[in-house]
Order: sequence, then C-alpha cells, then structure tokens
Amino acid sequence: MSKGKLTVVISQAPGKNPAKRALEENLAASLLMEPGIELSIIPHLYDLGPDHTGRLFLESIPGDMVVLAWLFPRAAFWLLDRDGIRGTEGQSPLHPKAEKDDEDADEPPPEKAPGIGPVGEIPDRTIWCLDLRDHAGHQIYLEEIRRIGAEAALLREGRQAAKQATKPPAVITLGLPTQKKPAPEFTPETLLAPPSRRWYPVIDYSRCTNCMECLDFCLFGVYGVDGLDRILVENQDSCKKGCPACSRVCPEQAIIFPDYKSAAIAGAPVGNIGGLKIDLSKLFGGEDPMVVAAQERDRELVRDGRDAVGLAVGIPKRQTDKPKGPRDELDSLVDALDSLDI
Ligand code: SF4
Ligand code: SF4
Repeated sequence: MSKGKLTVVISQAPGKNPAKRALEENLAASLLMEPGIELSIIPHLYDLGPDHTGRLFLESIPGDMVVLAWLFPRAAFWLLDRDGIRGTEGQSPLHPKAEKDDEDADEPPPEKAPGIGPVGEIPDRTIWCLDLRDHAGHQIYLEEIRRIGAEAALLREGRQAAKQATKPPAVITLGLPTQKKPAPEFTPETLLAPPSRRWYPVIDYSRCTNCMECLDFCLFGVYGVDGLDRILVENQDSCKKGCPACSRVCPEQAIIFPDYKSAAIAGAPVGNIGGLKIDLSKLFGGEDPMVVAAQERDRELVRDGRDAVGLAVGIPKRQTDKPKGPRDELDSLVDALDSLDI
C-alpha cells in the first residue's frame, strides 16, 4: 500500500444483480484512472469470515479508507469495527435523494444515545462508509471520493505535524537487524473468492448501553461478555438465519442485522426511516415488538426441537409499555407489502 494514497474498497453486492454489478464496474473503471487512489474490490462485507482474503486485506490497510458497500454506513462501520478494522467514522454529505427534500431540511438530527463506545485503542485514521444503494449513477460517488481524498490529505498533514512536534530525539541502536514479516499477497482472484452467506447481529457501540437485555433474550448462545464485562457477539454463526428477534428487544436500536429487509433493523440512521412521511401505523396498525420478537424466537426454538417459551423468558418488563417506534411501523409496512406479493 503506497503512502499518501487513499484506499478505496468496493464491497460487491451478494448475488448477480446486473444493475448493481454495472454500478460497481463503472465506479471501479473511473477510480482506476483517478490519481491518489488505491482501489480494491472484495465480496459482500457482511459475508467475510475471519480467514477470507478480503477480510485479511481490510485488516492490512494501515491508513484512511473509504468503503463502498450495499449496506447502511452505520452497519458497515460497526461491522468493520467488530472485525478489528477500526478508526474514526468519517462523515459524508452523501445521502439518499429522499433525505435532501426541502421538507426534511428543518428536521432535528437523529437522537443520540449514550453508548459505551468501542473498547481499546482506536487507530488514528478515518473510515468513510458509503451506501451504494443511495444513488444509481457512479459519478456522484466519484465526486464524493474526490472530496474525501482532499479531506484525508488535510487530516494526514495534521497528523504528520502533530507527530513532528512530539517526536523524541533519535536513538541509535546496535544489534542484529530484525526480520520483517513478508506482506501477504492479495490477488484479485483470492480477494474475490465467493464466501458463503452469513447471518449474525452487529452491535453499534455508539448506542449500546451494556444493559444485557439481548444476552438474557437470546437462547441460542450468540451473545457473551468480554474481560471487561461488556456485551459482545461471541458466537456469530450460532445466530438463526433470517431471524432478527433480539434487535426488536434492544432498547437502544443498537443491534443491526445488515441484510434484513427493514431499514430500521438493517442499520438506517436512528430516528430516520428513509424520509417516509406517512404515519404507517395508521395504515397497518402495529404489533408489540416484544410479542413479535418472542414469536420469532419461538419459531427458531421449535425448529431446533426445543420448547417454545413465549414471553416467559428474557423479556424486559420495562419495555412492554414503551411506545412503538418507527422501526415497528416500517416492519409492518414491509411485511404487509411482502404479503401482497407485488
Ligand atoms: S440490548 Fe442493546 S443496548 Fe442492551 S446490551 Fe444488548 S446491544 Fe447493548
Ligand atoms: S436473532 Fe435470535 S438467535 Fe440471533 S442473536 Fe438474536 S435472539 Fe439470538
């Protein structure tokens, strides 16, 4: 990886949707001509297991990076964080067209919960995540990457100046030269080796308050705690495919299932459901999220040959009176539209 270059990673959509592939290819072709950019293409970020070359490549990137994925930026950022690919979240003005309406201009910013934040040291670099579903044409992404490139250069200069100011005097050491580990080879073929589809929750630690309600609720051993008694997703692959039950239980909307059909569960900005203005609850009613979560969990218990437990286990009492949020309304809309089979 060359010093001073901005690494741009395109994470491909799962499947073979031609429109999505065309956007990825057009963007890649433009970025290859762009000075100051180092481009790589990997499969769908969410599916990368710990041994996939795409994941090892991401781990090897030392500096600032832009990740373009078919995921909400919040989902992509915390997914990377979970995999140890960490930094400060870069802000981008790029949003879906719906959010740029004049009507939206006066809306207050999304509410912010006092999360426990990521554990450990955060490297001094910035990670910008962009959602490839926001715009159909590649030009707007290209322009935004140019803007980010200029911002990253300024950030780099600031870091270098700070480093110079605090640089200790040079020390001459004598002895045998240390053996440098050879850098792994990343070829397009190994980077793009198709991974199997995966399904697991991702925690947004900027929102998670460590209340442990997800740990009590999940009866499949997915959650655990680390050495500092902080919640973590311990056994990713024990999660039940397609089930988002615990995300409905989390009081802070901190649990994300990046590939779920409903935007609120898939990591849309909290307090925003894609610019929808209508009161969906009036159209479809709205079920209690606890009841829905318990039903989803029961379905998985029964599939595993276990007894259903309904609302008798791991249901937080204080949440049963909570007013229904937009996530439930949107879920109802999506489910209703699904049932129309249009
Ligand atoms: S339920 Fe949500 S806020 Fe509570 S520990 Fe789990 S992820 Fe964090
Ligand atoms: S979706 Fe179900 S199985 Fe997966 S972590 Fe949540 S409660 Fe556990």
